[in-house]
Amino acid sequence: MLWQVFRFAFVLFFGAYLGSLFKSPFAASLTVIAISMGWYLLEHHKRRKILKWLAQDVLTERPQKIGDLSFVVDRFMRLLIEQRKINSNTHQRLQDFLSAIQASPNGVLLLDAELRIEWCNQTAADHLGIDMRRDVRQFISNLVRDPLFSSYLKLQDQYTDVVIETRDSRPENPKKISIQLYPYGEGRRLLLSRDITLLEQAEMMRRDFVANVSHEIRTPLTVLSGFIETMLNLPVEEVERKRYLELMSQQAGRMQTLVNDLLTLSKLEGSTSPSRSEWTPLIVLWQQCVQEAWSLSKVLYTHSTQKIILNLDEQVQGLEICGSRNELLSAMTNLVSNAVRYTPEDGTIQVSLSALQDGGVEFKVIDSGPGIAPEHLSRLTERFYRVDRSRSRESGGTGLGLAIVKHVAQRHDTQLLISSQLAQGSEFSLRVPPQRIRKS
Ligand code: ADP
Repeated sequence: MLWQVFRFAFVLFFGAYLGSLFKSPFAASLTVIAISMGWYLLEHHKRRKILKWLAQDVLTERPQKIGDLSFVVDRFMRLLIEQRKINSNTHQRLQDFLSAIQASPNGVLLLDAELRIEWCNQTAADHLGIDMRRDVRQFISNLVRDPLFSSYLKLQDQYTDVVIETRDSRPENPKKISIQLYPYGEGRRLLLSRDITLLEQAEMMRRDFVANVSHEIRTPLTVLSGFIETMLNLPVEEVERKRYLELMSQQAGRMQTLVNDLLTLSKLEGSTSPSRSEWTPLIVLWQQCVQEAWSLSKVLYTHSTQKIILNLDEQVQGLEICGSRNELLSAMTNLVSNAVRYTPEDGTIQVSLSALQDGGVEFKVIDSGPGIAPEHLSRLTERFYRVDRSRSRESGGTGLGLAIVKHVAQRHDTQLLISSQLAQGSEFSLRVPPQRIRKS
């Protein structure tokens, strides 16, 4: 600045000196005025250039030939570039933050002080049926009309969550979300939503399971305690005593079978997949399974005329199967024992083990029993699901057999196929894939 004044003063003096060469004060004054005017016009031109440059939307090339003012422009440009960098970093961080919230499996929605929607991630939009292009700045109460949610909004403090059904929830496919509001900023609210459909289903299954187990155990326990009371309080003859003890032993056996099946199921559900290095000859499993079928048939029907037809494919004899020997045997015997238990004394059961075209193996049990109505087929492998309760209990069933078979099949990449028709008999088969079979 001082340098500028000094230069201006120097030029003026130089002009005055030039003017004085004409030996006329008028010429000297005229020269000074002319130089001042020229100086002023030049500076004005530079300023106009800078203002024009600043007026551009995008500041690109800095203006040229602006003398000392280039220092100001350079400084301004530096500040501008720094500011742009800060802005771009802030923008990038905001984008990262928003992408992280978008990736959240939970719904996040921001509401202003009047409970109008400011922003939400896709999960929240899906949960609440919101379209952000259409619904931004809309009142949340206008979009989520569940009465439970409306009352929740009116609460002073939302300490707990509220559970509502999603818009696309259907009776055959219910979907539930848990919503909680948290205050933040100046009167604003943060709404978090979480899909709890699976959690609710698991909770319902747990409740059903406990109720089923209690029910299954209560009956034999009632019978047992009844007999114990009778024997304690009444004089009982030897013959009677023996009969009571036999019935008590039967009920105790029933409870034991139930506990064993429950333990087997929990082991199947809780353990890691069976070892891939355990190989068992198929013929061994076949023989054990057939043996159990004969024994059960004899126990159930003393003078049995039940026919068990066996069909072992020759090709299978030299093959081995990969997986847990105990689990595989348990699945096969469960199918055979069901056939024996549900087929009447004079019925026929066909058990076969055959090699498939693709290199796999199929274990099939066909019976001429009562058959199963189509509406039950999809539910047969649920725990404690029974078509004929009394028949199942009479023959020592626990309602867990097919659930065990399904789990074993899943753990061995095996398909469980069931087909049946009322009064026509049933067909259960296990299809083992080729990768689990090898030649011994
Ligand atoms: P359970 O111990 O009652 O036999 P399962 O899980 O093995 O339990 O079978 C579930 C239900 O499926 C049985 O209660 C029975 O009603 C039906 N079921 C299973 N196998 C047969 C079959 N071979 N013939 C007719 N019904 C069957």
